[in-house]
Amino acid sequence: MDDKNDSIIKDDTNNEYENVCYICHRSESQVGKMLKMLDNMYICPDCMQRTFDLMNSSAAFTGSSHAAKPDKKSEGGPSETDAAQNGENSKTDGNHAGKAAGTPVFDFGKGFLNFDNLILPGFFNSDMGGIPKSQRVKKAAPKKKDGESEQAAVLDFKKLPPPHKIKEQLDEYVIGQERAKKIISVAVYNHYKRVTKDLDGSIEIGKSNMLMIGPTGCGKTYLVQTLARLLNVPLAITDATSLTEAGYIGDDVESVLSKLLKASDNDVDRAETGIVFIDEIDKIAKKKNVTNRDVSGESVQQGLLKLLEGADVEVPVGATSKNAMVPMTTINTKNILFICGGAFPDLEDIIKKRLSKNTLIGFNNDLKDKYDNDPDLLEKVNNEDLREFGLIPEFIGRLPVVYSLKGLDSKMLVKIMKEPKNAILKQYQKLLELDEVDLQFDDDALLAIAEKALEKKTGARGLRSIIEEFMLDIMYEIPKDPSIGRVFITKDYIEGKGGPRIVLRGQG
Ligand code: ADP
Repeated sequence: MDDKNDSIIKDDTNNEYENVCYICHRSESQVGKMLKMLDNMYICPDCMQRTFDLMNSSAAFTGSSHAAKPDKKSEGGPSETDAAQNGENSKTDGNHAGKAAGTPVFDFGKGFLNFDNLILPGFFNSDMGGIPKSQRVKKAAPKKKDGESEQAAVLDFKKLPPPHKIKEQLDEYVIGQERAKKIISVAVYNHYKRVTKDLDGSIEIGKSNMLMIGPTGCGKTYLVQTLARLLNVPLAITDATSLTEAGYIGDDVESVLSKLLKASDNDVDRAETGIVFIDEIDKIAKKKNVTNRDVSGESVQQGLLKLLEGADVEVPVGATSKNAMVPMTTINTKNILFICGGAFPDLEDIIKKRLSKNTLIGFNNDLKDKYDNDPDLLEKVNNEDLREFGLIPEFIGRLPVVYSLKGLDSKMLVKIMKEPKNAILKQYQKLLELDEVDLQFDDDALLAIAEKALEKKTGARGLRSIIEEFMLDIMYEIPKDPSIGRVFITKDYIEGKGGPRIVLRGQG
C-alpha cells in the first residue's frame, strides 16, 4: 500500500474520518459543516467569519480613500487593537482597493492573503498534504432511534459474559488472586450493564471505578490487560508518575484520554466505553511537608477528579499535550472505566497502626502480634488508611471499589510458569517442539527458578529474564545435534552446578 495514502486521508468526502478545521483544528462534529477550500483543506464557519472580520477591519483601516469602514463588526470578531495592528501591517498603495466610497471593498492582494495579519496556525505553513490520520477522529456512528441507547451500537449487552464467566476466562491466564478476580468480574459486569442497558433514569447507577493495591509484579496490569482483551474494549495504560498539573513539564491529565483514543483507532464512540488503567497511582500521593506547589501529587489527583466522575473533556488527538497545531475532540468520560493501581509501600504499616490503636492496652498485645504476621492485612484497607497515605478524600470517593492483590510466593510463581494458557514454559516447549525435541522441567528446577525470582523482589516479572538466561544455551546447542530427542532442565543446571539431562532419540 502507498505509504503516503496510509498516513494521510486523501479522499475527504467518503472516508470514515471527520474533517478538521485548518485554523482552529476542531472537528466537524464540534463546529458543524466545514467549507472546503482546497484539496484536504477545510475551514469551519467560525474561523471563516473571523477571517472576514479581520479582512473588514484591515480594509477599513487602509483609510477612507481605499475602502469604506464597515458598519458593524460581527460578534466575537477581533478587538479594536487587533484591527489597528492588522491595519498597520497591511497598508496598501490603493491600487487594489475600491474607489467608490461607501462600498466595503477588500484588498485581496494584501488583505485576505496577507497571512502575517491573519495569524492562521498551520494554514499555509503545513505541507498542504492534509492532517495526518493519527490526528483525525472517526465520524460518530449515526444516532439510534428513540429509546435505544447510543452506546448499544458499540457494546452489546447480550454478548457481555456474566461475572462467573468473566472470572473463568481470567482464570485461564491469571494465577491466584481469586478475590481480586471475583471483585473485578462483578465490577466490570455492573459497569458495562450500566453502559449498555437503557435504564429508565429512575435510579442512577454509580460508576465502579477501581483502586487495585498490590506489590509490584503481582499481576495488576496483566489482570486489566487480560480483561480488556476478553471484553474486546479499548484499553489505555498510563503511568501516574508522568502526569503533572497543566502548564508544567510532563503530560496533562487529558493525555490518558488521548491514549485511549489512540487505542480505539481514533473512534470516539469506542473510546467512550473503554478502560483506562493508571498505574503507580501511589506516586501521586500528597507530598508531606512540602513548601512549594505539589504539581505532580495532589494537583494531579485534583485534575483527575473530573475524568473519574464523568465529564466532557477536550482531548488532543494524536498527541499528549494541547497546542495550537493539534486537533482537539471532546470525549465524555461517563462510561469510561478507570482502574487505578499501585504498590502503596508502607500502607501495611498504616493499617497495622490503625488496627492496633485499640489494642495497645497490655492484655491485647497478642492481637498486635497477629497483625504483624497477617498475610491478608492489605485486604483490611479502608478510606481512612488511604487518606493517611496521601490520597485526597474526593479522589478516594471516586474509586468506590477497592481491593488488594497478594504478593506472589514460590508456589504461585511455579504455577505462573507452567499453567496459564500462554505460560512461558509452554512457549519454550512449543519452540523446541518445532525442532522435534521434547522439553521438560524437573519440579525442583522450577522451584529453584521461583526462588531466584523472589530474590529479585519484582514478582513474576523476574521470571522471564531468569528463564531466558539459561534457555539461551539450550536453544543454541540443541539444534546442532539432531539425535537429541528430549531435554530435562534440572535444578543443578539452574544453579550452575551441572548440565541438563539429555535423552537421545529412540532411548525412550
Ligand atoms: P504489576 O502488578 O506490577 O502491574 P504485571 O501485571 O505487569 O505486574 O506483571 C508482570 C508479568 O508477570 C505479567 O506480564 C505476567 O506475565 C506475569 N504475572 C504476574 N502476575 C501474574 C499472575 N497472577 N498470573 C499470571 N501471570 C502473572
